[in-house]
Amino acid sequence: MKSAWIGIAICLLTSCMSIEKSQHQKIKQANESKERIYRSCKEKLYPVAQLTPQIRDPYPWELGSSGMHPKISKESFRCRGDAKHLPKVKEDSSSQLILDCGGRLNHSLPVRGGKEFVYPILIDLLNYIQLKTSCPVIITCGHRCPAHNAYADGSIYNLSSKHMIGAEVDFYVEGKENRPEEIVDLIMKYYAEKETYKGSKEYLQFLRLEQVKINVSTAPWYNKEILIKLYKKGEGRDFDNQHPYPYLSLQVRFDRDLNEKVTYSWEKAFQGYMRY
Ligand SMILES: [Zn+2]
Repeated sequence: MKSAWIGIAICLLTSCMSIEKSQHQKIKQANESKERIYRSCKEKLYPVAQLTPQIRDPYPWELGSSGMHPKISKESFRCRGDAKHLPKVKEDSSSQLILDCGGRLNHSLPVRGGKEFVYPILIDLLNYIQLKTSCPVIITCGHRCPAHNAYADGSIYNLSSKHMIGAEVDFYVEGKENRPEEIVDLIMKYYAEKETYKGSKEYLQFLRLEQVKINVSTAPWYNKEILIKLYKKGEGRDFDNQHPYPYLSLQVRFDRDLNEKVTYSWEKAFQGYMRY
């Protein structure tokens, strides 16, 4: 009796499977009969160009070891502030907390004529140094927004810093960290070589700035356009310059395009850039 029931179940199962199979075949035939492609004898075949692998340009972070270095641009000048930096306590009786800015994602570089702007002479000089030394220029501080400027260096010398208006840069040269005087010589050579400055004594002649109230032990060099400060080991240490090397600071003194002195102003520093 039991075996009879099993036999009936097998019969039902096989009949179901055969019904499903026949339906599947019908659908397949229907699909096959639909799409027909008609070709014309006038058709032409166009050869597809053979693909050859292209050698891509190296990414900036892949350069350096081969003697080539990524070109300095205004991108290298973006503010180094970061909201993740721990709050600092103001070193006076107020014990006020100083917060860092939100960094490059929260604000732009200084803006001039509707575009982000860093004084081109700074970019030109740094690229010239890289080219002549074949060593990378390490920018430790380019643009500082007022919040990061206060956070990085609250000293009296820094209140009207030209970092805030895109007219100052701090840097050292990797591989020549302890020979900053060589870099000062190169900067002077830049002026001697450039056609733009040929015959202009005020650009070619560098003088020394002897001042009592100054935060460097080496008298800065200056011509009409820039001022060069040399911070020795232990001098000028701020949040952005915590490395153990001497470093140079370039400040723009004169704007050749506008034919005017470059000076710090509250408006330029606090209102001269975009917040996002
Ligand atoms: Zn900032």
